[in-house]
Amino acid sequence: MSAIGNIPTPINEPILNYAPGSAERTALEAAIVELGSVVTEIPVVINGVEHFTGQTVKLTSPQRHSHHIANLHQTTPELRQAAIDGAVAAQHAWERWSFADRAAVFLRAADLLAGPWRQRVNAATLLGQSKTAHQAEIDSACELIDFWRFNVHYAERLLHEQPISVPGVWNRLDWRPLEGFIYAITPFNFTAIGGNLPTAPAMLGNVALWKPSTTAALSNYLVYQILREAGMPAGVIQFIPGDSVKTTATLLDSKHLAGIHFTGSTPVFRSIWQGVAERLGTYRGYPRLVGETGGKDFIVAHASANVEALVTNLLRGAFEYQGQKCSACSRTYIPRSLWPTVKRRMQEEMAQMKVGDPADFSNYLGAVIDERAFRKHEALLKAVQSDPAITVHAGGTCDDSVGWFVQPTLLESSDPHHRIMREEFFGPILSAYVYEDDQWSEVLTLIDETAEYALTGAIFANERAAVIEAEEKLRHAAGNYYVNDKCTGAVVGQQPFGGGRASGTNDKAGSLLNLYRWVSARTVKETGNPATNWRYPFLG
Ligand code: NAD
Repeated sequence: MSAIGNIPTPINEPILNYAPGSAERTALEAAIVELGSVVTEIPVVINGVEHFTGQTVKLTSPQRHSHHIANLHQTTPELRQAAIDGAVAAQHAWERWSFADRAAVFLRAADLLAGPWRQRVNAATLLGQSKTAHQAEIDSACELIDFWRFNVHYAERLLHEQPISVPGVWNRLDWRPLEGFIYAITPFNFTAIGGNLPTAPAMLGNVALWKPSTTAALSNYLVYQILREAGMPAGVIQFIPGDSVKTTATLLDSKHLAGIHFTGSTPVFRSIWQGVAERLGTYRGYPRLVGETGGKDFIVAHASANVEALVTNLLRGAFEYQGQKCSACSRTYIPRSLWPTVKRRMQEEMAQMKVGDPADFSNYLGAVIDERAFRKHEALLKAVQSDPAITVHAGGTCDDSVGWFVQPTLLESSDPHHRIMREEFFGPILSAYVYEDDQWSEVLTLIDETAEYALTGAIFANERAAVIEAEEKLRHAAGNYYVNDKCTGAVVGQQPFGGGRASGTNDKAGSLLNLYRWVSARTVKETGNPATNWRYPFLG
């Protein structure tokens, strides 16, 4: 086709509300029953061929660990090598597709997810990752649809980014993909991130090997099926679930490794970076390393804060999805004058938060992702009981008899440097430190210097001078910073997401900044009437 098509202008996918009696609620309930009544076999998919290797990991539902939902087939050494070879071979044709044709695949995937696949993927996220209907909707439906539509739009803008030309000379930037494959390693906690990390590079003509998180593999496999139905050619994105350490070793050993697109914990990203550094001389180029990692995200209240707004946003920011968002609020700083009211209101509201199976829509929290996470929280909650620096104001208990349930917990620490103020626990556990009202400037410095992370943070204040001072003092303490709002819930196209320091490379998923990492520009200068005499006039 001879046309330069304009990409449709994206708008954020509307969030369905799942109110009783709504069509979406009926459809989601039916999808939960349908998906929950079978054991899905999840294959490795290489060059479009599904491999049921027989080496499987049993996947169970976090909210009912007796519920067997899937068998995840693992890659073998031969398949991992075949995945690399197949991707490298597929790149030649894929990068020669017109941008419009590549874009069409992802725009179609977005439409399929918005329509016929929506409730199946939401049901998989609810069953496999223990998200409530609302949390599944904003993640596996809306955010992933937005990633696909907005990234296509940003990619088009990037292609239009061109240098100036002067009379007789035409200059162009050729936005080439990276030479080799991108290794996409995705976390359990967002189905949308699973879908985004391999596809953002692929839009620009890259090929990717996608290693999903084991505990998110059911929803991630459905996302992969959507991409295939949308016309993604075989080999362009290989689906390679399996042992993360062995897979990473094989892929890092390949000279074709061109980039890593990672989201997960800080220690894992550091180990991968180290692995690349140790092999640096073996690669054709310098692999691009993009990683969004952990956080110890804060909400700080000034004495002028609106207490009801503060409490509501602490509750949502800390406990939605069981505190398992990288952006979840896990430390808060409250002035002494407000603390009695804040504490009482938190206790009153937390007593009303129901924890249980998200298929029962009255539950606000589901289960934590797996036994390993549960045991970590269990050990922490046990340790704080006898810790003289800690007071447990709400929650503090957990129950593994049916699922991996941890009660939303409010702790107060008298020590601002206690590990509960510094470490990421990734559960529904909020740590508070009460500061003296006249120590506002000092508390801002404390927040900035306490944790090694810098992902998200929020300030609640009505006094503008306090807002101004916090914005200045906390400039490097968060990559996503909120004023009078919770520190979670970034929306693609509105609040580009990512943090600095130990929280990652801050390449802002779902934005133009991220896409720049997946291209290697070639500059082309073309001269209409080339020089035919080497002598310059000044020689005369
Ligand atoms: P994780 O680090 O355990 O796992 C992430 C991915 O890395 C998974 O696919 C896993 O299989 C793989 N992996 C694990 N160990 C590995 C190893 N030794 N070598 C190579 N790969 C390995 O993280 P998770 O539990 O899935 O996710 C939670 C973490 O992710 C939290 O720290 C959270 O803050 C972070 N996170 C950050 C963002 C962000 O945008 N900054 C978003 C979501 C999650």
